[in-house]
Order: sequence, then C-alpha cells, then structure tokens
Amino acid sequence: MGSSWTEFWNWMNGARCPLCAPRPKTDPYKIEIAQLTVSTLYLDRDQRFHGYSVLIFDPRHATGIEQLTSEEYKAFTDDLHHAAKAVHEAFRPNLMNYASLGNGIPHVHWHIILRYENDPRWGYPVWVTLEAPQKVLLSDPEYESMVDRIRSCLQ
Ligand SMILES: [Zn+2]
Repeated sequence: MGSSWTEFWNWMNGARCPLCAPRPKTDPYKIEIAQLTVSTLYLDRDQRFHGYSVLIFDPRHATGIEQLTSEEYKAFTDDLHHAAKAVHEAFRPNLMNYASLGNGIPHVHWHIILRYENDPRWGYPVWVTLEAPQKVLLSDPEYESMVDRIRSCLQ
C-alpha cells in the first residue's frame, strides 16, 4: 500500500488523512469532476476501466458508512446514485461495479467502476492480487474530455 502502518493508523484517526477535505482539484491519482451535496466526484487517473471514478465523502473524517448519521448516509447515497447515472450515461458500459473498502486510505469513499465485455477482468472482480496490474494513464486533454462529458451528464 506504499505507506507505513503507523501512517495508516494516523489516517484511521483522521490525522493527516489524504482524503479529508479540502483536497486539491487534481493530484497524481485523480481529477475533480464536480462537488455534489456531501461528496466530491473525481475521475481516477488510472483508466484501465474507462470512466473509473471515485466519490469521496466531504463533511468530515469517517472510516466507513457505519460512522455516518442517517442524514449523512442518505445524502451520500443520493450523491452516489446521481454520480452513477451520470457516469453511466457518459460512457455506456455493459455493467457497473461499486466498491467501498478503505484498505488503502480509510476515509469513506466509493469506487465507481465501469465494466465492459472487452475489459481485462470481465466476468471477475477487478481486484485479485496485492500487486496492482499495469495502470492505464491518459493525456491531460483526454482526462479533461472525460471530465467534461461526465459534468454534462450530472444536471
Ligand atoms: Zn479523512
């Protein structure tokens, strides 16, 4: 996971958590698409699964949905639904996967993973080994085009 367990436990407690707001609009891992009601939607720079996006809870540090109030959970779920419909409309995958794990960074977020019948893991879960397979990185104009496309589907 690229960081020490000491750092991980700091993050668990909300100390220097890399996913707590405020976050930069872009970083080596993601590009902001839009801020929703209680979360922000990002395009993941790793585009092995075309349209792969991440939705991160904004108001405060929380390691999982069990730590959210009912109101926070409902708003976050509405954001997830909104984001999922937009990303689906933008790229028309064959199937959508949703995952919330927190093993890398323990701040509540959803992986929105678009699946295609010709993707490298079709028919199987996207994560199978501890080592990440080869990433697929795009150019900045390609990322921008994808971000614009999702934004146009978010209304
Ligand atoms: Zn956090």
